[in-house]
Amino acid sequence: MPAFYDVSYHADGTVAGMVSNNPNAPDKVKRQVEMNLSETYYPTTPLVPYIKATQDRVVLEIQRGCIRGCRFCQAGMIYRPNRERSLEYLKKCAYEMLASTGHEEISLSSLSSSDYSQLQELVCFLINEFGSKKVNISFPSLRIDAFSLDVMSKVQDIRKSSLTFAPEAGSQRLRNVINKGLTEEDILNGSGKAFQSGWNRVKLYFMMGLPTEKEDDIEGIAILSDQIARKYYEIPKEQRSGKVSIVTSTSFFVPKPFTPFQWARMNTSEEYLTKQHYLRDKIREQLNRKSIKYNWHEADLSELEGAFARGDRRISKVIYDAYKAGCLYDSWSEYFHFDKWQKAFRDNGIDYRFYTCRERDEEEVFPWDFIDTGITKKFLLREYRNAKAEKVTLNCRQSCAGCGAKSFGGGICYRSGANPEEVTNESTN
Ligand code: SF4
Repeated sequence: MPAFYDVSYHADGTVAGMVSNNPNAPDKVKRQVEMNLSETYYPTTPLVPYIKATQDRVVLEIQRGCIRGCRFCQAGMIYRPNRERSLEYLKKCAYEMLASTGHEEISLSSLSSSDYSQLQELVCFLINEFGSKKVNISFPSLRIDAFSLDVMSKVQDIRKSSLTFAPEAGSQRLRNVINKGLTEEDILNGSGKAFQSGWNRVKLYFMMGLPTEKEDDIEGIAILSDQIARKYYEIPKEQRSGKVSIVTSTSFFVPKPFTPFQWARMNTSEEYLTKQHYLRDKIREQLNRKSIKYNWHEADLSELEGAFARGDRRISKVIYDAYKAGCLYDSWSEYFHFDKWQKAFRDNGIDYRFYTCRERDEEEVFPWDFIDTGITKKFLLREYRNAKAEKVTLNCRQSCAGCGAKSFGGGICYRSGANPEEVTNESTN
């Protein structure tokens, strides 16, 4: 409850400190974590609406947390450690949920489904058990490897479905900065195999404005899109299924609390637009430009998101004033009035770029520091420095990086050969 904490500020507007003003409010509020996800309640009889809803399927959460460690990803940090549900538990839930809802699709949900250690067994079970009953199986967040392609070709209509890759950055250098463990080779090999299996549509997701980004990294997005298209045309003409379609989308990077990039500077909307136009021109220079469609995100909306992501309690009045001025349903572009938001910031004497475009000092106290996610600030800072040094950190299955989550007493930390001393040496926050 933020009201239980009094905040003081430095003259430059940064937070000086936060103290509890209630005897029952601890200095730090520790995140509560359920470690055994195979012995918890799972909602196997969810409400089923009479109307057709977008999420018209059974959602089976196979694990929580992620072993990866992408430095921009808040979910990947705050849901540590990775905890898998057992195969038996998931089989039971699948039966119960399909029977109780009557849905004809089951979606395996997690931050990175390919990392679930028993994915092969689970998918084979679902196909054998429910495939003949015309139940579709969908897997968001899969890495495209031989196994995934084989499974997807069994459960999806290749002509209708497109493959999705999220390289996030256009160059290997920048992918190392963000610790995205996906190489150009992975992407090109994956696309090549997919094209040979009959796919001809690929969606690619990138972020612009990542820390240390240079023009070469942006141009890399256009080049990678083109390389994928070229991969398609390496297949003999008689074996191709029509033309290839590559949809390249960019969103603007928004630094988030509790991530290694919480110290980072965000780009201004003007910088974003310049980068977006640069990329559009670079895509137009590519050999296969007609096969590549470029989509982008609204820059103004991203800037606002940036202010909310790392804002503090002084922003609450801005939100209230904007709401009173008619700002509602802002995610629909026709209802988004940036001028009203800008006025609300001005009326409250707040420059939103104080929250977005300022690289934080390493010592700065953050408005969210009174929340203890179990991941230490020391680890996040080390990761921020590693990012600037373009140094990759191994995933939790390969080696423990000592993030602090081991203090919860379970999950991947106790299966990865992690060195306990690495964790106990860390101070909490
Ligand atoms: S303590 Fe080690 S193994 Fe556990 S989540 Fe953190 S980095 Fe991964």
